[in-house]
Amino acid sequence: MRCHRCHAPANVEIRRSRIAFCARCYPDWFRAQVQERIDHDRMFRRDQRVLVAVSGGKDSLALWHTLMRLGYRADGLYVRLGIGEYSRRSQAKAEGFANRHGLLLHQVDLEADHGFVVPDLVEARSGKPCAACGTVKRYHFNKVAAELGYDVVATGHNLDDEAATLFGNLVHWNGEYLARQLPVLESTHPGFVRKVKPLYRLSERETAAYALVERIDYILEECPMAKGAKSLAYKDMLNCLEEQQPGAKYRFLVGFLKQGRSVLPAAAPEAADVRRCSRCGQPTTAELCAYCRMADRGRRKHETKDRKYGRTPVGP
Ligand code: SF4
Ligand SMILES: [Zn+2]
Ligand SMILES: [Zn+2]
Repeated sequence: MRCHRCHAPANVEIRRSRIAFCARCYPDWFRAQVQERIDHDRMFRRDQRVLVAVSGGKDSLALWHTLMRLGYRADGLYVRLGIGEYSRRSQAKAEGFANRHGLLLHQVDLEADHGFVVPDLVEARSGKPCAACGTVKRYHFNKVAAELGYDVVATGHNLDDEAATLFGNLVHWNGEYLARQLPVLESTHPGFVRKVKPLYRLSERETAAYALVERIDYILEECPMAKGAKSLAYKDMLNCLEEQQPGAKYRFLVGFLKQGRSVLPAAAPEAADVRRCSRCGQPTTAELCAYCRMADRGRRKHETKDRKYGRTPVGP
């Protein structure tokens, strides 16, 4: 195959569009796709400040790199989750990227600042902390963005992530989650910062190719807690379908956003009685927000482990 732009031998094929690019032209195509989504979905403007949720993986670093090259004012936030060696290595990748490009990386350290780590949040039923980990990350991305005056939080969710989430929400008929599956989540309260997903139409393969061509050094291994996660099974199924029908994932997600959403019942209105958490000041509908309640459980578990293993507590 030849490059769609310069006709040199191609290196990256975009199967769903039946086009391909050489390694020199591919990054420009990728960045143009991101720019088009930012503009079309009115994600943010050039004069606004963006906080990128950075994990050290290919998607978040490819997003940060793209925004930097497109000239946006984008800083990063890395949350130290305390998942052993995996966290140490991903932190090093996030810091290395920021240093190499002279970018500002904020950090939150769960253990030092909050007295627990994500493995303390393992749930008895699933044996996994992923649901709680999602709450932890969303909480800190929102809190840091709100406190430091960022206009928007950008995450590296790609087409594969979004299609797998959609598939899971359909399998379980999660009407409430389906209604909230959007590339832009508007702020519904002054304490909630807008959330956007500029890579949502680009596949994992396309993002990985961008990271490779741009020589982005990212963490290759998956989080050890991801093993056996339902989302991985959904991704495998969608990949099988994609193999037989190139473009199926894209049509599934984009078709849902364009047509499927219109047949959904309207999303439940946001609770009117949003107030400030009595401990941390973040918006909530209860006396204590979900994060503060969860952090209490995590700290108790962490202290039990400290006593069991004779460690000196590190918390605040
Ligand atoms: S796999 Fe689960 S525990 Fe690991 S980072 Fe993702 S959500 Fe958190
Ligand atoms: Zn080319
Ligand atoms: Zn709170």
